Amino acid sequence: MLSTAREVSVFGDAIAYFNEAAELLDLDAGTRRILTKPSRQIIFSIPFQRDSGELEVYTGYRVQYSFARGPAKGGVRFHPGVTLDEVTALAFWMTWKCAVVDLPFGGGKGGVTCDPIKLSPGELERVTRRYAAELVEVVGPDKDVPAPDVGTTPQIMAWFMDTYSMHIRQHTPGVVTGKPLEVGGSRGRVEATGRGVSLTTLAQMKEMGMTPKGARVAVQGFGNVGSIATQMFADHGCTIVGISDVTGGYYNEKGLDVGGAIAYAQEHHSLDGYRGGERITNAQLLELPCDVLVPAALEKVLTADNAAHVQAKLVVEGANGPTTPEADRIFNERGIVVIPDILANAGGVTVSYFEWAQDRNGYFWKESEVNDRLADVLHTNFTEIRQVSSLRSVPLRTAAYMLAIDRVVKAMKMRGMYA
Ligand code: GLU
Repeated sequence: MLSTAREVSVFGDAIAYFNEAAELLDLDAGTRRILTKPSRQIIFSIPFQRDSGELEVYTGYRVQYSFARGPAKGGVRFHPGVTLDEVTALAFWMTWKCAVVDLPFGGGKGGVTCDPIKLSPGELERVTRRYAAELVEVVGPDKDVPAPDVGTTPQIMAWFMDTYSMHIRQHTPGVVTGKPLEVGGSRGRVEATGRGVSLTTLAQMKEMGMTPKGARVAVQGFGNVGSIATQMFADHGCTIVGISDVTGGYYNEKGLDVGGAIAYAQEHHSLDGYRGGERITNAQLLELPCDVLVPAALEKVLTADNAAHVQAKLVVEGANGPTTPEADRIFNERGIVVIPDILANAGGVTVSYFEWAQDRNGYFWKESEVNDRLADVLHTNFTEIRQVSSLRSVPLRTAAYMLAIDRVVKAMKMRGMYA
């Protein structure tokens, strides 16, 4: 199934992090064998009609990595780079992410290899409905609960929910999270991932004796995660020295006007042509003079080639898997602290859990309640991670994996093996 070296290394990188923690936990070989294989991988074709009348076929995926702690949970990615290997790695990460913040979920992820920017709203709806229809038997509030990820939106979740509900002839808002408020979404869900990034960053800055006021922050990625985290950093008095999206980056050592950049990106659907700062590349953004660096785009951007040039003291993984194990090693050697993805960006799935719980009850919470509970979940589990980190003298990432693996293994052992 794995076709290129790049693809092999996405899941390979993920496994490398797992193995390091499994070693420290003295995990037996059999349990490791089970945990390094996905429970279920589904690949299917998505034929659909273009507005022009032409017929096209995309490939869709859903990987249900683990059910040990509950239904599979994780987003759906619409991106030209989607492969089975990438989706498997992302589903693997969801397993540890859900466990590290103690949610009653396993891990899953889905994707369609396509470029959603090039699809009309009608085409996007047809692709989404066909994707959902193919998965009707295997998703559901107690089976597997998709959500947004790169390239997917609340509207896409609404179409998914509607298609599923029509098929099973029952209104089922809890089949997906990240929906619009009008159809069973949760207040605070759109902001949740960015909010979690900023909450964990601020907590770690405090730990490191850094004050937010005037701290220089650079953020790669200006989608849902990056733009909201950037806004929250600015609200806390940080100086945003760099931002970027797929079209390139902008730098201003005195600080960019974040509100202006967000308004620009909303109007133009990207930062392309924004004039608020000096034009830089995405590669340059990662090496900017700054205190905090937040990669919030895609995986594998911090590598053995650039890790030695990173100037930040703190790296916060807004994206899933932005740091390769080689880069991680360099950061550890250089004393650069990394808040790992499975914690830093867990705010999204945490509020997805709140949404799922609200949908099941048919009773919706105030935004302040969502935000307070989110902060509580992140702080409680971050404290536990820190305790493991200092007790075992390991970096935050290893500690987070150790905590997550331990929780999943306990559930597995209690359930026993059905054979
Ligand atoms: N796609 C997000 C993530 O990677 C959210 C997943 C969810 O809410 O289920 O964590």
